Amino acid sequence: MDKEDCIFCKIVQGEIPSSIIFEDDTALAFLDINPAAPTHILIIPKEHIGSVNDLDNEHENMVGHLITIGKLLADDQGISASGYRLIINTGQDSGQVVHHLHLHLLGGRRMGPLG
Ligand code: 5GP
Ligand code: ZN
Repeated sequence: MDKEDCIFCKIVQGEIPSSIIFEDDTALAFLDINPAAPTHILIIPKEHIGSVNDLDNEHENMVGHLITIGKLLADDQGISASGYRLIINTGQDSGQVVHHLHLHLLGGRRMGPLG
């Protein structure tokens, strides 16, 4: 998918509204439109990267940054102690539907086994 057609690039550009809860030079976090848990936040790089399959060595700092944002937002949301998941779906079998790299921060309820 081209970045011109990418929903999350449009959110980064402000062309599609979203409930933004964190922003810095390289990353954005906003509420998932269809939450799967009481806390469901999407954390994305502002740069268009399709999926983990498109990552390169040069992206390692950025990916670490996204995880650190997840930790900070989990703390903000009050779910650090109760626990949470940071999930990255990649490709068809994972159910990835938006082809712009994103971490799901999920928490606020007890979750079942993965898979
Ligand atoms: P995926 O299955 O690709 O890992 O997850 C994509 C997520 O993006 C889904 O949880 C879906 O609810 C969310 N989503 C899709 N379109 C939009 C949108 O326009 N705005 C927001 N805030 N979330 C979206
Ligand atoms: Zn994009």
